[in-house]
Amino acid sequence: MKKLIIDFDSTLVKIETLDKLAELALAENENKDEIVEEIKRITEMGMNGEITFPESLERRISLINTHKDIVESLARLIKEELSDSVLDNLDFFMKNRNDIFIISGGFKDLIFPTAEILGVYPKNILANDFVFDENGVLAGVDKENLMAKENGKVNQLKELNLSGELIMVGDGWTDYQVREFGVADKFIAYTENVSREKVVRKADIVVDNFNEVIGYFYKK
Ligand SMILES: [Mg+2]
Repeated sequence: MKKLIIDFDSTLVKIETLDKLAELALAENENKDEIVEEIKRITEMGMNGEITFPESLERRISLINTHKDIVESLARLIKEELSDSVLDNLDFFMKNRNDIFIISGGFKDLIFPTAEILGVYPKNILANDFVFDENGVLAGVDKENLMAKENGKVNQLKELNLSGELIMVGDGWTDYQVREFGVADKFIAYTENVSREKVVRKADIVVDNFNEVIGYFYKK
């Protein structure tokens, strides 16, 4: 029995959700362009394995000064950003929901509304938690969450202790690491939205659309 463990940003959806949050949050800020560029640069450095994930996350969140309302409105916008071939296969997700997990260095508040369209159970979503202060201002990240720590995807997946053949699908370095550390049995590099050479080189399989993931999932 196979299980799909799927990344969110630039895999299930076309975008990097934290980059979008920065754009929205900084819309009125006169230094917006510089700060957004800086956040994208930090995202890429993390993706390519040049800095650790906790460092990347903390640096980005500290640059985004925002409010719960903005987070909620972005969460609604993200629902429109499903990758084209994912949107074409909603029935597959619903039918196999017991064997589908989302694992993301992103945030539950931004993922849940989209995951609901796919039919992924909330309990099968492993992601970070924002911390807001009493006025609803974004104050940081829940650092106790395994996903906020180094090798978050690896350790979180290990802790789930899932049975069967685990297939990790994603576009980033942290997705590959799940396979590198032996927690997943296969790593599928997902390039529908972005193709990262360093990640693709490490993949067992490279696909550019979700139909190929489904093909592998059903393969005997
Ligand atoms: Mg990704």
